[in-house]
Amino acid sequence: MKKVIIIGAGGVGGVVAHKCAQLPEVFEEIVLASRTQSKCDQIAAQIGKDHLRTAQVDADNVEELTALLKVEKPFMVINVALPYQDLHIMDACLNAGVHYLDTANYEPPEEAKFEYKWQWAYQDKFKQAGLMALLGSGFDPGVTGVYTAYAAKHHFDEIETLDIVDVNGGNHGHPFATNFNPEINIREVTAECRHWENGKFVGTPAMSENLSFTCPEGVGTYSIYRMYHEELESLTKHFPTIKKAQFWMSFSENYLKHLEVLGNIGMTSIEPVNFEGREIVPLQFLKALLPDPASLGPRTKGRTCIGNIIRGTKDGKEKLYYVYNICDHEACYAEVQSQAISYTTGVPAMIGAKMMMEGKWMQPGVWNIEQMDPDPFMDDLNRYGLPWTEIELGSHPLENG
Ligand code: NDP
Repeated sequence: MKKVIIIGAGGVGGVVAHKCAQLPEVFEEIVLASRTQSKCDQIAAQIGKDHLRTAQVDADNVEELTALLKVEKPFMVINVALPYQDLHIMDACLNAGVHYLDTANYEPPEEAKFEYKWQWAYQDKFKQAGLMALLGSGFDPGVTGVYTAYAAKHHFDEIETLDIVDVNGGNHGHPFATNFNPEINIREVTAECRHWENGKFVGTPAMSENLSFTCPEGVGTYSIYRMYHEELESLTKHFPTIKKAQFWMSFSENYLKHLEVLGNIGMTSIEPVNFEGREIVPLQFLKALLPDPASLGPRTKGRTCIGNIIRGTKDGKEKLYYVYNICDHEACYAEVQSQAISYTTGVPAMIGAKMMMEGKWMQPGVWNIEQMDPDPFMDDLNRYGLPWTEIELGSHPLENG
């Protein structure tokens, strides 16, 4: 009986639970565990399947989580709690002999640093234990890494430039809200921008570089902003021919105006301040005021368009290639009661776990997703809700207009 434990019952956790529950032949038993059990119970009631149970756990308490894993004896953990929990959950998996998967790299709570070094340091421990840890199995990171591996395997002898473009053309009708955990989102967006160029990361101020990008299939034209994103670190390591790698994300003027004002008055700071005799972190207080991302589902309309634009050479000739997915917020809601941002993260988390459960990806050690064979994952993207399209481009859309 192959069992999985999903940790985290937020927007993404809800989608992972729905998608795993749709495949009882792979995920024969599912336990959805989070800090607040009532959130798990709510998702379980939506799904209404006997092979899904819930549990309460504080994943920062390694002992408590180890005990839960030892009782439940799952094949693996799908970690869709917050990046702060990654190392604690990896420790508990090692203690209990359980495989591990996540969708975001570890961040120390006191510093917005996006680096794989903490998790890569677990390589020997996982190898020696005969366990696998799959890092970054969401969309970005996640599918963007699989797209890169697929392009390298089937379309290029050498990849030279990589531009990941993440457009959310959706509208939730709130003056300001984030599509996933507000604290994690705002830490990421306000961090210094870094892109890879000629063998090193180059820093520029946050949001200082922007372009206009027209998405395919009528999704629309959006302003996209260059920012740092964690997969740039692993992709440039694993595909060392890449000379330039950049990550771009769309933001509305309204979102940026709110963010600017909140930043100017100190509300996005992660430095604790004393308020009426109690220490509070302004960003955590702001999170408490903002809409819960999981509540955006029924209100969000429009589509997302996320993909990789890759330039390189094949058989001595230059080639320009674009692979992308378009996802409709309302269709996601109709299927799993969630908006497309959680959906595009939760589906790849389920597929990554499926790859491991089926033994298609099973290799002791700590691996980024692009180190695995992309083909079975690409097939499953088409099968389970995130179909992709690939085209050859005549000119580079970020360089010519
Ligand atoms: P939410 O804030 O909606 O959900 C996080 C969940 O984790 C909550 O249910 C929370 O429980 C739970 N949690 C937090 N701390 C603990 C703990 N100590 N023990 C147990 N459970 C805990 O976030 P999202 O669902 O939007 O995001 C989930 C993850 O997905 C994040 O790591 C995010 O970075 C990642 N992500 C990745 C993307 C990708 O494409 N790769 C895109 C979007 C998100 P409670 O509610 O009880 O506090």
